[in-house]
This record gives sequence, structure tokens and C-alpha cells, in this order.
Amino acid sequence: MVAASEAFLADELDRCSKCGTCLSVCPSYKHFHDETASPRGRLELCRGLSGAVDTHTKAAVSAVCRCLGCLRCMRSCPSSVRVDVCVQAAAWRTYGSGIQGVFRRCVMRGLVPRRRIFRQVLRAAAAAQALVGLRSSENSVLRHLPMLGTRAKLPVLARRDAASIVGRARVPKTKDRPTVAVFSGCLSNFVYPNVVVDTLASMRALGLAVAVPENQTCCGVPAWIAGDHESARRLARANVSVFEKAGADRIVTVCASCGRMLKETYPELLDNESGIRFAAKVEDAASLLWPMRAARAGSATRASGVGAAERGIAYHRPCHSVWYDSGEIVRSVEAVTGREVRMMPDGCCGCAGTFAMRFPEAGRAVARPIVKAARAGAIGTLLTPCPACMMHLDAVLREAGLDVKVQHPVSFLARLQ
Ligand code: SF4
Ligand code: SF4
Repeated sequence: MVAASEAFLADELDRCSKCGTCLSVCPSYKHFHDETASPRGRLELCRGLSGAVDTHTKAAVSAVCRCLGCLRCMRSCPSSVRVDVCVQAAAWRTYGSGIQGVFRRCVMRGLVPRRRIFRQVLRAAAAAQALVGLRSSENSVLRHLPMLGTRAKLPVLARRDAASIVGRARVPKTKDRPTVAVFSGCLSNFVYPNVVVDTLASMRALGLAVAVPENQTCCGVPAWIAGDHESARRLARANVSVFEKAGADRIVTVCASCGRMLKETYPELLDNESGIRFAAKVEDAASLLWPMRAARAGSATRASGVGAAERGIAYHRPCHSVWYDSGEIVRSVEAVTGREVRMMPDGCCGCAGTFAMRFPEAGRAVARPIVKAARAGAIGTLLTPCPACMMHLDAVLREAGLDVKVQHPVSFLARLQ
């Protein structure tokens, strides 16, 4: 079990040999060109954080928090140092106290789990966005509130969230058809409900028995990243209980980050059998559906939904998709459409939760190789199985004046049914 105890953190910090292997893969270090923005430098700053929180500590923590949470350092680290937990502990030590801490706990423990109230709040926010014309005006100054002067933009909330569009979608369990339950996630639920709707349509078209369990809540990633492990654990417990009651045989998610949380973090966060059982059932929706569609189509029958004249199709692999093989999605898209799918440069898209809002210029700079490749490859459709990557890539490609349709692979699949 991951416990951000002093002993655990001290051990992690000591295991860093300062070899510097992680520097070459860290998007934050590449952008800020500063050792304190590198994984190694972050760990050293974390080591110095002890005693009372003062201005010096806050400055150190804000340097530590220029992390995109992409986990690339951990994948390359020969000592498997838990950079993520060290960064989270530093963040929570500072921002988890005082008014900010109280506010964060109220949101994560009081608002987010109460789905009905949370939905009402976001509905009101969506109505307010419509009222002030935020939706219609891409460059309106209102899109930048409350971050005026930063060129950061707020996401546009959907008028109706996925849960209210699809309803409960409960299907009685049958012997020959395992029930596949959908974990909808917050961004897909409230910003891209069409992704959830398309997932259900594709699943049904492929003959799967579908369920969308009621009362499922946020996966807990925002709380986990902020270092509020207790709130993340509460949300994890709630989701495990909801999906256990639903009797799902398999659980699919349309978000790479939610998926990583459910698959890899829940077992260590909950440290019990239910967490392990739950995680074992988690799958990526596109990785399940695309190979099924490819198997059904066979090599001779290609989908007619994608015209030969359509401009290039490309795929961006989200950082958090490491828990599944997105190569299978790409191979299946190629088999079904008969078109080559170009892989975008391997790297973070620059969204990283609130990173692109806190550091909009850095968020754009991190995405630059992808924008460059999309331009050079005359890409018309960019597929990526993560709503956060979709949102950021859509924004940076538009800003670059490129006409690229950024789509979730399940929505692209729904077009072909
Ligand atoms: S790769 Fe690992 S051990 Fe080497 S400097 Fe980075 S965090 Fe430390
Ligand atoms: S998680 Fe990503 S951004 Fe953060 S330190 Fe590691 S490589 Fe750098």
C-alpha cells in the first residue's frame, strides 16, 4: 500500500541515485530547462521540505508542482523511484493546509461524491457558459476567466451530461453474454458525453450486454495527484462498491487516466481483495471494441464510413495509456479502414490535468511536436483515447490554424457501425 509517510518518502528519496536517466524523458525539464523542473531536482526539493510551511517552502513546492504527472520518469528510472508520490506529498503538505486545504476537502469529499448535487452545479455552470456566450466565442475574453492574462481556456461543459443522456442502461445478466459496465469518468461525462454515448452504441452493435451503474463517481485522479490520498481512497471505495453491486463481469473506461487510476492505483490505494478484483476487470473501451470490430469485419470487408479521400488519420498515445497496448487499437483501425494510421511523436500532449491552465505557454510548447507532425502529415483525423488529451490537442491544433478533427477512437468506431 502506498502510504506517503515520512519513512516511505525518505526511503524513496534515498533510492534516487541521481543518475539523470529521467531527465531525457521529462517534458517539464525539456520546457523549463531548469534542474528544479527535472524529476531528480524535484526529489531534492522534496528532501528539503520539512518543518513549518513558509514562503520558502511554498516557492519550492510550486517548483515541484511544475510536474505533468506523465510518469515517464518512473518508467525510465532504473531504481523505480516513486516520483509521483513524492511530488504529491510535497503538494499536499503545502496546499492541503489552511483555507485551500479546507476548500479542496469540501470539493473532493463533500461535492464530487454527491453526484446529483455535483451534476446540478455543473449544469448551472453550463447554463451560465451558454448565457455569457462562452460556447459560441472561441476567443472570447470570457473563455479565459478566471485566468485572464494567461491565455488559458476553460473547458466548455456539455448542456446534458452523459449519465442523463444514457440513463441507467441496466441490462440483466445472461449466461452467454457477460455484462460490460461502463465507467464514464468526469471529463467524458460532463465535457464529452458523446464519447460515452458512442461507446454504448458500439458495444451494443457488437452484441455486448451493457450496464452503466448508477452512483459511480469520480475515479479520484484529481485528489490523488493533489496528494489528497484520503479523498482518493474514499472515491475508490465508493466506485468499487457500486461496480460490485452491479455485478459487472468487465469494466470499461474511455479515459486513459481514469483507467490507470482504476487499474493500477486502486489496488495500492485500497490494499484489499476488492480493489484487486475490481482492477482485474478494468479494460480500455477502444482496446476492447476495435479488435472485436476488426475480427467481425474480416480482411475482405472494410468499413465504408471512411472515404479514401479523407485526409490522414493519426493516433496520439496518452501518457497514461501504459496499462494497455494501444498498438492493438491502431492495428485494428488500419485493418477495418484499410488506411494507414500514423503515430504522432511519442510524448505528453501538455494537458496534464490543470497544468495547461496553470502554465498555458508550457502546455502549448509541450504539444508543439504533435502540432508540427499533424501539419507535416496533412492529418485530418487525430485519434486519442483520453478526453483530456482530446481537449488540449483540439485547442492547440485550432490555435495553429489546422483543421484536424480530434476524436476518441470509440467515436470514430461509432461512425463506421
Ligand atoms: S532516473 Fe531515477 S534514480 Fe536516476 S535521477 Fe531520475 S529519479 Fe533518480
Ligand atoms: S511525471 Fe513527467 S513531468 Fe513529472 S517529473 Fe516525471 S517525467 Fe517530469
